[in-house]
Amino acid sequence: MKIETVRGTEFTYPSRRSTDSAGHSHPGPLTQARMALLTITTDEGHSGHAFAPCEVIRPHVLDAFVRKVLLGRDPFDREKLWAELEHWQRGSAGQLTDRALAAVDQALWDLAGRALGLPVYKLIGAWRDKVPAYGSTMCGDELPGGLSTPEEYADFALKLVARGYKAIKLHTWMPPVKFAPDVDMDIRACAAVREAVGPSIALMLDGYHNYSRTDALRIGRALERLEFTWFEEMMNEQSMASYVWLSEQLDIPVLGPESLSGKHYSRADWVKAGASDILRAGVPGVGGITPTLKVAHLAEAFGMNCEVHGNGAANLAVCAVVRNCRWYERGLLHPFLDYDEVPAYLNRLADPMDEHGYVHLAQAPGLGEDINFEHIEAHTLRQY
Ligand code: MG
Repeated sequence: MKIETVRGTEFTYPSRRSTDSAGHSHPGPLTQARMALLTITTDEGHSGHAFAPCEVIRPHVLDAFVRKVLLGRDPFDREKLWAELEHWQRGSAGQLTDRALAAVDQALWDLAGRALGLPVYKLIGAWRDKVPAYGSTMCGDELPGGLSTPEEYADFALKLVARGYKAIKLHTWMPPVKFAPDVDMDIRACAAVREAVGPSIALMLDGYHNYSRTDALRIGRALERLEFTWFEEMMNEQSMASYVWLSEQLDIPVLGPESLSGKHYSRADWVKAGASDILRAGVPGVGGITPTLKVAHLAEAFGMNCEVHGNGAANLAVCAVVRNCRWYERGLLHPFLDYDEVPAYLNRLADPMDEHGYVHLAQAPGLGEDINFEHIEAHTLRQY
């Protein structure tokens, strides 16, 4: 079997999410958002797909790197193809990003699953068929009735518990919210949520990502008193020494790195340095399912958990095949938005959650995204 075509399709879909000046998503007016679908096809008529931001798999990236490596090759040689693509990043990482690598890797896994008639998580080797989810809130805002006060976080947490979530992660206030960052507000929000949901719901905090060491220590001590499960990306992850400093002092598990570059290589350095207690990797951030599995297995060998960053079918597949990931991150969630509403480019949710808080893996071949090709065809802006 040989790869015959690599194609990008840019399309629009209705969205009620908008992005602030720092890149955080919030509820917004109904607009037409853009997305791209990467499709890899073979000479035997099989295909695999992956969604990605339009800029990540733009025409130059496909022409200059992806087609050069993939065309004419066996789509089942994922490890080799990933390594050859990664090698192009030497000197071209600004063009060929880890997110582009991830889209290619996901499409190859999807293709393999579809060609073999297997869900990807079964193809890799399943650990479980359903994963407990934590509800991951959007960042705080200044929208009355939204996530603008500690009390509103508490009200929303009660709604999430009623929906079935057994765990909740708060993203608190970050600039450009005018009072952010604010250590006391973050602690008050965490305390209000703990008081509202009681002791049996697992809680995590992902606050402002640039706190100083001393601010982070103060919040961490408060989270210990509130019996939080983990404390995530509270400082700039480019300073590994700061994470070593914090992890040595706190009892609450410190989780990371999430946004740091360097794939499994940088995460190995964090393990060796003792910079976090729980490792972190997400499929788009570290360059695909293939390297995310390496991070999870690295953590397993050191007796550490590895919590998977972000939602979507590919991250869910990883959660289902590694034994040292506790939760699937479902979100981002906000009181003004219905996460259970199916996006126009899918026929069903990739991560349906039952009333007990478990997300169930799709049994269809491939990554399990039931793609609405009719919508995409009717709303295509360009193909390349
Ligand atoms: Mg995070």
